[in-house]
Amino acid sequence: MTASTRTHLSPALKQATPIVVDHGKGSWIIGTDGRKYLDFTTGIGVTSTGHCHPRVVEAAREQVGKIIHAQYTTVMHQPLLELTDKLGEVLPAGLDSVFYANSGSEAVEASIRLARMATGRPNIIAFHGGFHGRTVAAASLTTAGTKFRSGFSPIMGGVHIAPFPYAFRYGWDIETAVAFALKELDYLLMTMSSPADTAAFIIEPVLGDGGYLPTPPEFLEGLRERADTHGIVLIVDEVQAGVGRTGKFWGHQHSSITPDIVITAKGLASGFPISAIAASTELMSKAWPGSQGGTYGGNAVAAAAGVATLDVVRDEGLVANAAVQGKVLLDGLLTLKAEHSAIGDARGLGLMQALEFVDGAGDPDAAAALRVQQGAIDEGLLLLTCGALGNVVRIIPALIVNDDEMRQGIDALSRTL
Ligand code: PLP
Repeated sequence: MTASTRTHLSPALKQATPIVVDHGKGSWIIGTDGRKYLDFTTGIGVTSTGHCHPRVVEAAREQVGKIIHAQYTTVMHQPLLELTDKLGEVLPAGLDSVFYANSGSEAVEASIRLARMATGRPNIIAFHGGFHGRTVAAASLTTAGTKFRSGFSPIMGGVHIAPFPYAFRYGWDIETAVAFALKELDYLLMTMSSPADTAAFIIEPVLGDGGYLPTPPEFLEGLRERADTHGIVLIVDEVQAGVGRTGKFWGHQHSSITPDIVITAKGLASGFPISAIAASTELMSKAWPGSQGGTYGGNAVAAAAGVATLDVVRDEGLVANAAVQGKVLLDGLLTLKAEHSAIGDARGLGLMQALEFVDGAGDPDAAAALRVQQGAIDEGLLLLTCGALGNVVRIIPALIVNDDEMRQGIDALSRTL
């Protein structure tokens, strides 16, 4: 299809590649030019069961013929009830009440509103390098790069940003970085945001756009302890890390904590827009009808795709596959790191892995990350860049990725480097 001469895409929709997609199948994307690409971006961690998994396609197709949209303030629909049941099989015990929206940002907003309504306190503490979305409130919590916050101030008030234990960049071991970040958090609670004013901590189990930095379990445990002591709500943003991506169903399950609120989106419906927050019935009851959400939240077709996605994740053992293939991927990345001095760090959890590029002085090298992303296209491999400093390449295969595809991906990356 040729571009219209009257209208064109906004510069805010600028693509990193020239590819126009014709169709997708499993781990692959096929361009309109007939070229085939191994998709290790999955629409930023969304197409969890691969492109167009037959069971997801069938569930959505069937639902479209029944009802597409039925608004929950008037009538409830079957797929949302089923999805709620299915989530009950995987959510941590005690998080038995679920609210739905369309996107990660909206669910983040819902979680902040809930924490504020439940505690009557104004402040939210987020962490350096975190990404929670692009709506004004979600962007206020986001520090994975200045582009998400600058230029449209003032952002939401009542937000404080505390250090994240970024051991690699500090040049410290993890224990030292965690001890430092917890001390800084305590200092923040004494000086800028007293517990009596602090409604919530919000944190990702693995910083997503911040560069795939796993949050050390000890740090999550330190947050849990402080949240319990001070009656602060602990929100874990699983928008990117949830639904099996890290090799456990939820990213926080690599630690011993249970969050007060879990946020999920992206992989939940394999590409259909739906998000959810889960909390205890007691906490969720602090949000009254009409105080949250929007017209399309919990859409029937997206919910049906969500039910099929959770079935596929269970039936095809995709959480275990993410753990196994994630290990193969990390081993491959560590080998590449040993061969290339431009790779400062190789890290991640499950199928959420990254390479951090540095220059000769060890400083962030965003240009190198971009060159790798662009070079990989010629090798038929799609990768993402990210990181608060732009110097990280993200590798996010579908959870269905197999041995052969993983080998092809690592080989293509090696040739690119
Ligand atoms: N939270 C996390 C951890 C994310 O990775 C994202 C998106 O990348 C969001 C929130 C925002 O989600 P959305 O882009 O669907 O609004």
